[in-house]
Amino acid sequence: MGFDEQMKKDTRIENYLHVLEILSQSTDDYLFLWDIDRDENWFFGAVDIEYALRDKGKPTNTTAEMEEIIYPADLDLLHEDLQEIAKGTKMIHNMNYRWVNRQGEAVWISCRGKVILDAEGKPFVMIGRVSDTALRYLYNPLTRLYNKTKMLSDIQENMLVDEGGYFMLVDVDDLGDINLKHGRKYGDEILKSLAKALEEIVQSQKIYHIEHNCFAVYLDAETEQEVCTVYNSIQAILAEKCTISAGVVPNNNDMFKEKNYLYDCADQTLRKAKNNGKSTIAFFSETDLKQKISAMELLGEIQESVKNGCEGFYLCYQPQVKAGNYRLYAAEALLRYNSKTRGRVFPDAFIPLLEESKLIMPVGRWVLETALMQCRYWRESCPTFRISVNFSTIQLREKDIDQKVLEILEKADLPGNALTIEITESIQMQELQYFSNIFKVWRAAGIEISLDDFGTGYANMGYLKQLEVDEIKIDRMFVKGIREATYNYKLVNNIIDFAKMNTLRICCEGVEDVSELAVLEGLSPNLLQGYLFDKPCEKEDFERFYINKESMEYQEHMDFVQELYQYKEKMRVIYFDAKDILRNTDVGLWLIRIHEKEQRFEMHADDTMERIMAVDKKYTPEECYNFWHDRIKQDYVEYVHKNVNRMIEAGKVVQLQYPWIHPGLGEVIVRCSGRRVEDSDGMITLEGYHRIISDIEETSIL
Ligand code: C2E
Ligand code: CA
Ligand code: CA
Repeated sequence: MGFDEQMKKDTRIENYLHVLEILSQSTDDYLFLWDIDRDENWFFGAVDIEYALRDKGKPTNTTAEMEEIIYPADLDLLHEDLQEIAKGTKMIHNMNYRWVNRQGEAVWISCRGKVILDAEGKPFVMIGRVSDTALRYLYNPLTRLYNKTKMLSDIQENMLVDEGGYFMLVDVDDLGDINLKHGRKYGDEILKSLAKALEEIVQSQKIYHIEHNCFAVYLDAETEQEVCTVYNSIQAILAEKCTISAGVVPNNNDMFKEKNYLYDCADQTLRKAKNNGKSTIAFFSETDLKQKISAMELLGEIQESVKNGCEGFYLCYQPQVKAGNYRLYAAEALLRYNSKTRGRVFPDAFIPLLEESKLIMPVGRWVLETALMQCRYWRESCPTFRISVNFSTIQLREKDIDQKVLEILEKADLPGNALTIEITESIQMQELQYFSNIFKVWRAAGIEISLDDFGTGYANMGYLKQLEVDEIKIDRMFVKGIREATYNYKLVNNIIDFAKMNTLRICCEGVEDVSELAVLEGLSPNLLQGYLFDKPCEKEDFERFYINKESMEYQEHMDFVQELYQYKEKMRVIYFDAKDILRNTDVGLWLIRIHEKEQRFEMHADDTMERIMAVDKKYTPEECYNFWHDRIKQDYVEYVHKNVNRMIEAGKVVQLQYPWIHPGLGEVIVRCSGRRVEDSDGMITLEGYHRIISDIEETSIL
């Protein structure tokens, strides 16, 4: 190249630099010029504040110097691209990759540049811009991996590969428990380790952190065996910290190019892995594929139905009866679909489809309208009749759902207390506030809120307090094993005790036979629901059995209740060795204060406590203590003392049960639970409740 030629080029470069300098003042992007012959990178804007560039005092950096701020995993890809540019085989550079900022964090940047040719048609500069904000919405702030939005767009734009390879979802088992045990920060560290392990093993950019606890990765593998090797290597790296589960779909079906099917199927497969006992990898099978296709067909049919005013949908009603006397209290409305091609379809098959497609919103509205109209009609003969309607969390996210429900209620001309809304326990903590606000509006209008499937999700007692619900439905999973499984029995027992203390109503679901009924009866829930009483019935049947007092079926039902009464005698004998266990659900609250040195004892009782102990006049706290203490059955005094000492020393809740001489009823069994709280007035202070579990009167809190 001649001297002239070089001069010309230099002048051109100077001019470009000048223009870039001016332009850079009107953008937050970093403009650059790469002088290809000299290998000098000029950057404009305050790029050196965030990134370690120009540290050596020069205004430019060589490509080798640039590489120091490039995320190692992305180097090879960048090299390849830049080589083609320098060779002249590529004119446009358009790449997303990562830089590392001065804090050592990876930052996704979008880099675009255009090559300019010299007089001989050879590339001599590339001019372009780098943006470190353009991709901010495309990656996860914790791990700096691409997020779900980016994954879905990559799938849709066929950025994975057209065909072949595997798509894998991975998540950490029981991360919720880990967070609870060790704190969220520790959980986040695990997620970062998983991200790192994935990058180490997979070495590609097709790794996504798609949800808090879920990663997706595309694997360029040929066999399931290869995929398993990847899975095992990742598991091995994390072995000390956690186990992981994976769901894998071979990318071999045209269907996967549509919508989110590839992701949906992987998600379904991951759930399969979890059901197989976690810490496992599961593959999407032929059967899974058939199921998916069938579900898609059903969805198509349902979409048509919804367009035609929810044609084909109808409601069944399952009675909820009061425990103890088995009288009708309410009905739960349960949705059914009558398919033209497959007949009657149950919710398990279509509710997930309605939820994914958001069709649950119009269908849910139809359910509520239909159920309320039915309720109003039945109330003409049965004025206290109420209806329970299920709501998915997706429905609760509908805009202005609180007001919409009130409008539908008003249109049906019903008071709020005719309606109970059942929501599932799976509401996430983060959303608690949002949902609480909706429930507040509803509760102010008299509508009651019920927490469905209790025991299967994340809910704990503290969570219940925050949510302020009116009813808990104990899932049938616990009811089912109640006779044999001590754990279930204890759990249900504790939930019921807790509910009683907080005046919550308890409904036990899935009561299928009298032996389950017998055990449950001993725990005094408020409501019962299950096949023992009835399966969900179509409205005509429900009306004959429960509403229309003249019908034969109504009589039949009453006879059945009589039979249950007869069983009752038997149940008590079998399960509770006491003559008169009926239901007194009242819980008295007490506070005991002890001055050890002076041997002074006080009992402070609330109104209920005074009533159930049949305190006949206003005692001082010391007299009250003596009143209670003197009536503990003689042989048990020591046992009670021992347990009170345990409360004082153990610092945890202690439960005890002892015979007590009731002034009116004689000997009754008292269940009592208490714990030590902060001392007051220099006295050891215990707090707890007291409940008579065998008594004579039948009172119901309903
Ligand atoms: P869920 O709310 O827990 O409803 C109770 C389910 O248990 C019903 O199933 C009912 O038929 C069944 N069941 C009742 N008693 C017994 C029993 O003694 N033994 C056994 N094995 N099962 C019993 P179904 O009708 O198939 O409903 C399944 C789920 O679908 C419901 O569970 C609910 O989550 C959902 N669902 C039903 N209708 C609607 C609706 O209108 N909207 C929404 N969002 N979800 C609904
Ligand atoms: Ca329910
Ligand atoms: Ca349930």
